Formats: sequence, C-alpha cells, structure tokens
Amino acid sequence: MDDCIFCKIASHEVPSNIVYEDEYAVAFNDLNPQTPVHVLVVPKKHIASIAAAQAEDEQLLGHLLLTVQRVAKALGVEESGYRVITNCGKDACQSVQHLHLHILGGKPMQERMG
Ligand code: IMP
Repeated sequence: MDDCIFCKIASHEVPSNIVYEDEYAVAFNDLNPQTPVHVLVVPKKHIASIAAAQAEDEQLLGHLLLTVQRVAKALGVEESGYRVITNCGKDACQSVQHLHLHILGGKPMQERMG
C-alpha cells in the first residue's frame, strides 16, 4: 500500500531497526518503546488490522504468531515472559492501519489491561 509506514518499513523504503525478517514477516523495534523490549511483528502483506484479515490469510496469521515466539526467544524474554497485543480499531487506539503484533517484555507488567 502506497502510503503505509509499515509497508515502507517492510520493503526497506524507510529505515528501521529490524530484528527479524523472512519472506512473509518483519519485526522491528517500536519507535516509542513502552517496555525495555518492545518489538512490532508485521506481515509484509498489507492487512489493515485483524478485523480485515481474510480466510486466505489463515496461514499467514499462524506464521505471525510463530514469528512472535521466535523473536521473543531471540530477544531473551521467552523465560521471563512477555505480552502480545494487537490493537484493532478506534476504541483500541490503533494508530497505524497495518496489522501489527506488539511484543512487550523485559520487565514485570501490571496484571490487568483496559
Ligand atoms: P498501535 O497504537 O497499536 O497502532 O501501535 C502503533 C505503534 O507503532 C506505536 O507503538 C508506535 O510507537 C509505533 N510506530 C509508529 N511509527 C513507527 C515507525 O516508523 N517505526 C517504528 N514504530 C513505529
């Protein structure tokens, strides 16, 4: 998609701190980290949010979750634990309209969200 910052990051048009990449996904450090480890995992295919995913994306969605697992391990938060969040739509304050999974970790977090 032409004007999507995460598409531009995924295609290396815009530089970012990429920590993992494969044929279908890329993971990079969040610009404004909320925790010591704060990485975004995004599909290279433009999907606006989890709500916009289609049946044909089933395998890709599974791949993204396994990418989260792989990246968390590589970043050393597998044992201590981490949170995985995807914001979807206005009430969830989704600010970038390209599906992304936040990996948050590196410190103990509050039990509850919302
Ligand atoms: P959302 O609020 O769930 O949509 O999260 C969007 C996230 O993208 C926020 O945590 C932003 O800090 C992050 N972000 C926005 N632009 C960039 C960028 O260019 N590089 C890395 N992270 C970004």
